[in-house]
Amino acid sequence: MASPPVRPEILFPLFSPVTALSGVGPRIAKLIEIVAGPHVVDLLWHLPRGLIDRRFSPPVAEAPDGRLATMTVRVDKHFPGHGRRPYRVRCGDDSGFITLVFFHARADYLKRLLPEGEKRVISGTVEHWNDELQMTHPDHVVTEAEADTLPRVEPVYGLTAGLTLKTIGKAVRGAVERAPALPEWQDDAYLKAQGWADWKTALLAAHAPESEADLEPITQPRARLAYDELLANQLALGLMRLRMKRLPGRATNGDGGLRRKVLEALPFDLTKSQTTAIDEVLADMGSEGRMLRLLQGDVGSGKTMVALFAMLNAVEGGGQAAFMAPTEILARQHFATLEPLLSVAGIQGAILTAREKGTARKATLAGLEDGSIDIVVGTHALFQKDVGFANLILAVIDEQHRFGVHQRLDLSGKGHGVDTLVMTATPIPRTLLLTSFGDMESSQLTEKPAGRQPVDTRTIPLNRIEEVIGGLQRALEQDAKIYWVCPLVEESEVSDLADAEARHADLKRRFGDIVELVHGRMKGVDKDEAMRRFAEGPARILVATTVIEVGVDVPDATVMVVEHAERFGLAQLHQLRGRIGRGLRRSSCLLLYLPPLTETARARLSILRESEDGFRIAEEDLRLRGGGEILGTRQSGVPVFRLADLAIHQELLAAARDDTKLILARDPELTSPRGAALRTLLYLFERDSAVINLRSG
Ligand code: ADP
Ligand code: MG
Repeated sequence: MASPPVRPEILFPLFSPVTALSGVGPRIAKLIEIVAGPHVVDLLWHLPRGLIDRRFSPPVAEAPDGRLATMTVRVDKHFPGHGRRPYRVRCGDDSGFITLVFFHARADYLKRLLPEGEKRVISGTVEHWNDELQMTHPDHVVTEAEADTLPRVEPVYGLTAGLTLKTIGKAVRGAVERAPALPEWQDDAYLKAQGWADWKTALLAAHAPESEADLEPITQPRARLAYDELLANQLALGLMRLRMKRLPGRATNGDGGLRRKVLEALPFDLTKSQTTAIDEVLADMGSEGRMLRLLQGDVGSGKTMVALFAMLNAVEGGGQAAFMAPTEILARQHFATLEPLLSVAGIQGAILTAREKGTARKATLAGLEDGSIDIVVGTHALFQKDVGFANLILAVIDEQHRFGVHQRLDLSGKGHGVDTLVMTATPIPRTLLLTSFGDMESSQLTEKPAGRQPVDTRTIPLNRIEEVIGGLQRALEQDAKIYWVCPLVEESEVSDLADAEARHADLKRRFGDIVELVHGRMKGVDKDEAMRRFAEGPARILVATTVIEVGVDVPDATVMVVEHAERFGLAQLHQLRGRIGRGLRRSSCLLLYLPPLTETARARLSILRESEDGFRIAEEDLRLRGGGEILGTRQSGVPVFRLADLAIHQELLAAARDDTKLILARDPELTSPRGAALRTLLYLFERDSAVINLRSG
């Protein structure tokens, strides 16, 4: 009997809320949640970013300016401050004197801390002031007897406003102390070859750097932890895939009748890439196994057509197909594109989103159940329990990364041997492909449909916004349609972000009613209506937040203005730009930025100026992003790693992939002793759902 996934008891202490740690109350817990996460385990992954080295102990006279020093001194005399004058305590050793300086000090406290005539160990930053040595607010003052309690090297952790290093340091120490020794999940030979320690030892070492070099991601403890994380990722994906592949498949070989009709009705020829991709998909569908294929193609490369031909094949084969989009706007848009082609083929289509309610919804559900509807386009509303199919053969999932892996499986569970085609418009570099999808078959659309013009991309500082608006006037006179993208919907704590609503009001004052607004918090109906007015008229300028990022198709839009382009990720900007340059007219993309630019932001913008090749941009994005900037990653839905840095640990990722292959070949149910340890690894990295369908170990 399959048991439900239960986290092993040994991990319980790590999955308590951080308030379980001493010194962490609800207020601190909120701050810790911002920098690390809600659970004790999150603190384990909050690795030091720097260190404070207190081991330097020179004689007082030799302490250099600006250097952190720990010195044993004699307390000579207190000089209470008054007015603006700080409180001062003169100390010294045989070599010379140093003055401790305290602002807003309480005399009684300082008298107790530093009694005249006694010796104290002080640690802090030394300053040279004229000929005098000073230390303002020493970090530590202890008696000689307590000298051992002074940390020699303190790890420095990422902080947020209100959270001190002392507090987080203590919380992390508490978390690390709670970490149990865990059974080894790594391959013995590999572990030895790498010279890695066991997990607990590596964890302790990663949190106890002795020098700057220990902070490098390639040090043994950090590399081991990164590998653990990557292995959990690869194994979870591998298990999902194995499970999917094991489900019985079926061969669907349509007679091509519907496809022929649609092909004749299309106003264009398919590109070579489209034809190849369709062939690959049809070959998968025609074989007994289950299809799980990724279709990658830049925005505008025509993925929808590939999906359509696959769906037609399903209908020819006597079944149904479901097409799932990440947003309602897109679902409607896809449906609007597909519907006329479906009627050419003489087959029945329907749409199903959260907006279809009442009798319309009932009719669609009934049609899906009795098979009178051949193709349904929808959102995640398609996942709902009451949605059943007479004979679902193919699930197409657009912009897959917005959905979780198990949702993908959910839809395929609505039929027998359902084939799945996953489409993504974010060209994903090989490395990320591996971490998002594992070793999945993929097809690429590498060419754009004929007749597309390159987009003229320029970067312009925000203080020239008036010129840009003047330029819009001229573009409008030539019938242009314009997107204007702002990063946020409403005034937030980051108050200098452009405000879409204010921009909308502003542009409306200048250009009148032809300016529309669409943002993520609008109701679906209103969003669709705004989009419709932009696509079909009378609107000519669409002010939008990034809700338009994915897929929206208004072929005659030729201008894209992105306000605060420096705040967007590279991949995201590329996506946005993909909204234009779709028709035959020349398009321009204006990236407005607020100077001064960080080096990374500058690099991002210049890559966009140089290239429109999504795959190159994606590679550059990964390279630039490194460990630090995760904006683009988070928004693209690619998993964010806490310990692994894909720009640095690529070899480890490849090793984790190979390791996963071996593990799944030898012990697919994870029942061996190593398998049991690997289950613990999956739970440790919160991949619980990957364990669900394993037999109990
Ligand atoms: P994607 O989903 O890859 O971003 P779409 O499938 O939405 O791209 O296609 C973008 C536009 O290109 C659509 O208007 C579509 O009708 C058109 N299109 C698709 N294939 C071709 C082709 N082979 N030739 C010309 N236009 C095409
Ligand atoms: Mg698309």
